Amino acid sequence: MLIDTYGRVATDLRVSLTDRCNLRCTYCMPEEGLQWLAKPDLLSDDEIVRLIGIAVTRLGITEVRFTGGEPLLRPGIVGIVERVAALEPRPQMSLTTNGIGLKRTATALKAAGLDRVNVSLDTLRPDVFKALTRRDRHQDVIAGLEAARDAGLTPVKVNCVLMPGLNDDEAPDLLAWAVEHDYELRFIEQMPLDAQHGWKREGMVTAGDILASLRTRFALTEEGVDERGSAPAERWLVDGGPHRVGVIASVTRPFCAACDRTRLTADGQIRNCLFATEETDLRNALRSDAPDEEIARIWRLAMWGKKAGSGLDDPSFLQPARPMSSIGG
Ligand code: SAM
Ligand code: SF4
Repeated sequence: MLIDTYGRVATDLRVSLTDRCNLRCTYCMPEEGLQWLAKPDLLSDDEIVRLIGIAVTRLGITEVRFTGGEPLLRPGIVGIVERVAALEPRPQMSLTTNGIGLKRTATALKAAGLDRVNVSLDTLRPDVFKALTRRDRHQDVIAGLEAARDAGLTPVKVNCVLMPGLNDDEAPDLLAWAVEHDYELRFIEQMPLDAQHGWKREGMVTAGDILASLRTRFALTEEGVDERGSAPAERWLVDGGPHRVGVIASVTRPFCAACDRTRLTADGQIRNCLFATEETDLRNALRSDAPDEEIARIWRLAMWGKKAGSGLDDPSFLQPARPMSSIGG
């Protein structure tokens, strides 16, 4: 098991397949992009599958989420999903994507064994999309969402970050649209994980703001706390259900005490928290022929040292050196 000194057990593995991206969301990376990881530093498909195998067979991982960067930019993604689906025990598999490549890949991903997708979409207005992501690809995301639903990668969840002055007036419209198309909408509070360090606590749109805005048009009923489990989204029934809306309030209502995550970066580093300032290298062990049990031992040790919380509420908080796109969000 991957247990820490506070008794939390990690069962959910987030795997970053690449740090590259075809969008430039303002809350994530600068217009010119970033210094991408060098090819030889990236784990190969075989190395990724081996590490996930160790996690599933020796460390109690039951859920694997592929992310990035934009994970659909990784050429071998369908093959990776297929090989992970063949593992015993087979983990649940999901993907967080900006949706642009889904029209092309949704059917193949489903056939390979992917269970679900989360697609990030912050606005229904193409001009706002262009301002937020610095690319004119709104229609591709909409098409990707439809392809995911048609392929049965359901429930399709939509991740949405609200930015002051850009799309913070859109929460009720986004929810009405999500209900109409049978997508489960989840708002994510903007976190200080952008490469350009532009996050400001004072300016951010909080969970409280989002709920107040939604309540101008919808009746929201909070689901029981048990339903929340270790999932970070607090969920509300919309107008009595069955549709739900989620809010991931990592900044104003952190869920660190219930965290069940461990993260693997595209260059083979274990992170025990999004906000960790330290990482543990597995790539070197992999490439020096360490046996599975040795790799599992290093991974267990990395998780044992997990801190109680993100430290976001502490004035001495330090943003991690790696931005979200390179950690794997
Ligand atoms: N490129 C894929 C995508 O956008 O879905 C996967 C990686 S992205 C880093 C994962 C999620 O993190 C997205 O839903 C994105 O909106 C969110 N995200 C990125 N930067 C963020 C930030 N500073 N605060 C909150 N969420 C952020
Ligand atoms: Fe790319 Fe996702 Fe970051 Fe947007 S949030 S720039 S889509 S990695």
